[in-house]
Amino acid sequence: MLIKNNLDLIHQQIQTACHQAQRPQSAVKLLAVSKTKPVEAIQEAIHAGQIAFGENYVQEGIEKIQYFSDKHPELEWHFIGPLQSNKTRLVAEYFDWMQTIDRAKIADRLNEQRSAYKKPLNVLIQINISDESSKSGIPPTEMLALAKHIENLPRLCLRGLMAIPAPTNNMAEQEKALSAMQTLFEELKAACPNQQIDTLSMGMSDDMNTAIACGSTMVRIGTAIFGQRNYS
Ligand SMILES: *Cc1c(COP(=O)(O)O)cnc(C)c1O
Repeated sequence: MLIKNNLDLIHQQIQTACHQAQRPQSAVKLLAVSKTKPVEAIQEAIHAGQIAFGENYVQEGIEKIQYFSDKHPELEWHFIGPLQSNKTRLVAEYFDWMQTIDRAKIADRLNEQRSAYKKPLNVLIQINISDESSKSGIPPTEMLALAKHIENLPRLCLRGLMAIPAPTNNMAEQEKALSAMQTLFEELKAACPNQQIDTLSMGMSDDMNTAIACGSTMVRIGTAIFGQRNYS
């Protein structure tokens, strides 16, 4: 019940943000980030109509995917954590989306390992937009080269970009990073007219409104749906 209420509230917030940005509510999808949460919590979210789930840890994600695969084949599973190259096979075999591509080697391995019997793996390039010490994502200047590389990989379907901007209380800084992502997204679409570039994954609880104003098509929310995580 609580999870359903949380989801209702977030859908309302998305609706308000879309209205303010003069975008249709259908333009922004909600990814429920279920890392560390048990299948019971995911089941509640499914009952409330949630379809897309994000996981950060390969093994944990696969256990959940297998648990729901018979009962809920409609679910969409997104890998959103950092990925070591020795774990690409599992992501290629089980997930529907991989949001954190940050080098050609990972893309090549996923392409080789994606079964011919499955739909191509949907992928996003992760951009390091805040230029922080964090190693996640590529610099914006490397986006087009990596996109052109992925375009030639038949078992991958390039869908767009993902970013995790550095947390900040400074609204101007937040907006600068998110609108830089919007610009890159437009550049990517123009450079890859034959790809189905339709996904800009950015916006978490703290920056959701600005992200939606800057063209986000997918917000990733965990704690506000499922409650605090316990890592012990
Ligand atoms: C954990 C995580 C989220 C969700 O974070 P919350 O603060 O729980 O909403 C979103 N995106 C990524 C990449 C994450 O790892």
